[in-house]
Amino acid sequence: MRWSSQELQTEQVGALPGLARLNNLVRSVQTPEFAGITFHEILCKSALNHVPGQSAMPFGYTINPYRGCSHACTYCFARTTHQYLDLDAGKDFDSEIIVKVNVAEVLRKELAKPTWGRHPVALGTNTDPYQRAEGRYRLMPGIIAALADSKTPISILTKGTLLRRDLDLLVEASEHVPVDLAMSIAIYDDELQQSVEPGTPTTKARLATVTAVRERGLDCGVFLMPILPFLTDTRAHLDEALRRAKAAGATSVLYSGLNLKPAVKEWYLLWLAREHPELVGRYRELYAGGQYAPKEYRTWLAARIKPLIRAHGLERGVVDPATGGLRSSALPTSPERMPVSASRTPSPSPASSSGRGLGPVRGPSLETGPGAIRWARGAEVPRSLIAAELPPDLAPTLF
Ligand code: SF4
Repeated sequence: MRWSSQELQTEQVGALPGLARLNNLVRSVQTPEFAGITFHEILCKSALNHVPGQSAMPFGYTINPYRGCSHACTYCFARTTHQYLDLDAGKDFDSEIIVKVNVAEVLRKELAKPTWGRHPVALGTNTDPYQRAEGRYRLMPGIIAALADSKTPISILTKGTLLRRDLDLLVEASEHVPVDLAMSIAIYDDELQQSVEPGTPTTKARLATVTAVRERGLDCGVFLMPILPFLTDTRAHLDEALRRAKAAGATSVLYSGLNLKPAVKEWYLLWLAREHPELVGRYRELYAGGQYAPKEYRTWLAARIKPLIRAHGLERGVVDPATGGLRSSALPTSPERMPVSASRTPSPSPASSSGRGLGPVRGPSLETGPGAIRWARGAEVPRSLIAAELPPDLAPTLF
């Protein structure tokens, strides 16, 4: 296996009780290049995660090659998922990273099943697939190739500039399936960005990644999420953010205010008390009613940012309410045109057995047989799916 030849400083089996209960832990490792981080390598049993439908657009599939994220955003909505492993939602989420070392192999088997309906698959809607660990484990090339070989549309949301490493593969994939890319870039004040997202690449580096994607001929959205009350919601900050996103070549921008789930809220408020103690009271008041800022705040934010988006000539992008990621351009444009049945879908597509080849070019649209998904890039979408207008229970689950 590709990871067995790498040098390790320490190796432990069953290092943590919660992980041991998974009974598929291969080993826990630490390496000098990733000081303070422990990787827990596991053999996963499944790769595709079906997100239950919450709307008229029911097809939500995601892949999470990693659990936990060394990007360490204090506001990260996925933090609570670490608690299922007896790990905490704070420091452990940032430093105890679960790695599904066999995810590409398992995925390829799942995609080969005759029942697979080639629904769009989103990456980056729970934890970041291009976090630092990806530089070591290189799971994404195998995932992208498996999806493209099976004619499955791909959507990726990331803060990781490592995306650039895979641009050749993504461009090649886009000749066969819709590929929708977005960078999450919410903070345009360098000091604040390093403080609140301490493990992430800089804003400048992420904007350069947007430009690199655009130079390769692919669209690239920018997620301006979350907008932090009293910190990044000033007109000046939003204006600067949109100006730089536009200058970088962003093809769309998506925004939403900060959501603070329990546990995430505690971690974020600890950071706030350290860095901006004067704001703690205002946040407690704003989020007194739960994880969402009140409707009045969200309405105020929308009224502030919408004219700026228009002024900068940016398109407003669309969030997939099922996954929280960029809505795939593969999806039909209205519920009436939804696929009738996933199980009726596939006329089998030729998938390469090499793990790298992408199969024959099929032209600008995907036609896969009766009941299959047909897609139209750039087509109009229902207004109900515009990100910031979603009701809270359908709001993006991350960022
Ligand atoms: S918000 Fe995204 S990039 Fe930041 S820690 Fe969470 S998963 Fe990682």
